[in-house]
Amino acid sequence: MESVIDVKEMTVDNNPVIEKMAINDHEQVVFCQDQATGLKAIIAIHNTTLGPALGGTRMWMYNNELEALNDVLRLSRGMTFKASITGLNLGGGKAVIIGDSYTQKSEALFRRFGKFVESLSGKYITAEDVGISPQDMEYVKMETNHVSGLPVSLGGSGDPSPVTAYGVYMGMKAAAKEMFGSDSLGGKKVTVQGVGHVGETLVKHLSKEGAIITLADINVDRANVVAKNYGANVVDGNSVYDVDMDIYAPCALGSTLNDETISKLNCSIIAGAANNQLKDEVVHGKMLKDKGILYAPDFLINAGGLVNVYREVEHFSQERAMEITENIYNTTLAIFKTANEENITTHQAALEVAKRRIESVGRLKMSL
Ligand code: NAD
Repeated sequence: MESVIDVKEMTVDNNPVIEKMAINDHEQVVFCQDQATGLKAIIAIHNTTLGPALGGTRMWMYNNELEALNDVLRLSRGMTFKASITGLNLGGGKAVIIGDSYTQKSEALFRRFGKFVESLSGKYITAEDVGISPQDMEYVKMETNHVSGLPVSLGGSGDPSPVTAYGVYMGMKAAAKEMFGSDSLGGKKVTVQGVGHVGETLVKHLSKEGAIITLADINVDRANVVAKNYGANVVDGNSVYDVDMDIYAPCALGSTLNDETISKLNCSIIAGAANNQLKDEVVHGKMLKDKGILYAPDFLINAGGLVNVYREVEHFSQERAMEITENIYNTTLAIFKTANEENITTHQAALEVAKRRIESVGRLKMSL
């Protein structure tokens, strides 16, 4: 009727899943199925050297299971490096529920998913992600305590987006310091793509500092409201890459840094909230470097939300979460220094630093 398949227990022969896991050294993948509730989910645990694997659950109508698997493997790996570079004692994990978030949700489905999370005994801690609401998480929480990022009304840390936006703002200021010699964004032309939960708060910070803001959102009404509130200009979604700007802030989707857009982009800095901005980490990181554009790595500067969620795990205050997030400024400057010294891309430098911490903590744990 129901099953938890730890693919580590399957035979390696004829099993492409394990081969896929080996590419980026994922520890464990759990496939979850329950006919009664219609649940089809995958939990991926990338690395738990630093601590339990924390990462949100995404509900999405994937075209097929392979697409869902690829997504959860990619996203969980990103969480490992985000936690590591931010100095958190967390590993990287993520879950995806395959289904339509408008029509296929039920209490039973989320409670069944909660039971699967519980079966991992805290090795994976879940949270909200795309397609999941606080109400859904309440159902998950009925079956497991390994849930974070809950609403304040349930004793949780609430919406992480303002903290994410603050970290992106800090990373952007560090990039300005590196590129222009001053971290002031006053008078700088900044284009924000996507003014949702994170983008709008970022616009608020930028407006306070006197930046000249252009914004775009496929939700035109939203774009107009935010622009009016903060004195910004609006362009349509397709014109974003042609705008005359100093700084491009992608705060909508991933993969917006690709062959086509990088050839168009005329800016000095890229610093935004979206995950996986580089379509190809190596190729497009290098293209930006060659073009003289300073890229503030996404997983480094958008970690504020994770810090906010982490405070539920470690029980520290909102003030402490803001302090850790403010330090993204210093970490970003340090990453630029490493990239310069080693003549590598900023993305590569951030990955190396994150990996080094995991390796050294891993060695420490082995020696204890
Ligand atoms: P959101 O859904 O609230 O906002 C995204 C906005 O982008 C929406 O207003 C949407 O209409 C707009 N958009 C979508 N496609 C667009 C396009 N092609 N052009 C212009 N606008 C477009 O999401 P959010 O919580 O603000 O997150 C923004 C990004 O940051 C996402 O990529 C998310 O994964 C990432 N992120 C968010 C957090 C967080 O704390 N919320 C943390 C880390 C990373």
